[in-house]
Amino acid sequence: MAEEIRRVFRMDNEVLAFRFTATVSDRASLAPRERLTDPARLETWLRATGLEVAEASPADLKKAVGLREAIYRIGSAIAAGEQPDSKAVRILNTVAAAGHAKPALEHGLAGWHLTKSTAADDALGVLAADAIHILGGPDRNHIKNCEGPGCAGLFLDTSRGANRRWCSMNTCGNKVKKMRFAEP
Ligand SMILES: [Zn+2]
Repeated sequence: MAEEIRRVFRMDNEVLAFRFTATVSDRASLAPRERLTDPARLETWLRATGLEVAEASPADLKKAVGLREAIYRIGSAIAAGEQPDSKAVRILNTVAAAGHAKPALEHGLAGWHLTKSTAADDALGVLAADAIHILGGPDRNHIKNCEGPGCAGLFLDTSRGANRRWCSMNTCGNKVKKMRFAEP
């Protein structure tokens, strides 16, 4: 299962909300790749994130994608020093307000309790709340778009010199390094 998840999804972004936006890869390329291709994929991603949802519907998937793109648009605007789109902000706040997840400390780790009847809304609410925390919190000046080839994924640059350029050293950072070596 963990193998399967890593093959389909990139789970290495340390910010939950940005890990969610990474369910589209190669955003800046000519052919961005959608990883949330059906409701079952959404369930798999949520489960891997610790947000167990018994069943996601096509409507849940649509809502999830809408939220994800709102987070991405706002994050990219902040990274560019621009004012975020008010429609995206509205979507983010609406999804956050609809969730009723309760935080819980379990076996020493932070987790979430979702309501049985509205588990998908609760899970999306957790993602929206995490996004609000990052997009409007003290670290918002450290939000960047990855400079990896075709990536443009969001990440939080908390490096001391604020000189991090890639969403992940293991993927985009390595790609760039290899390209440099290949140059004559
Ligand atoms: Zn990247």
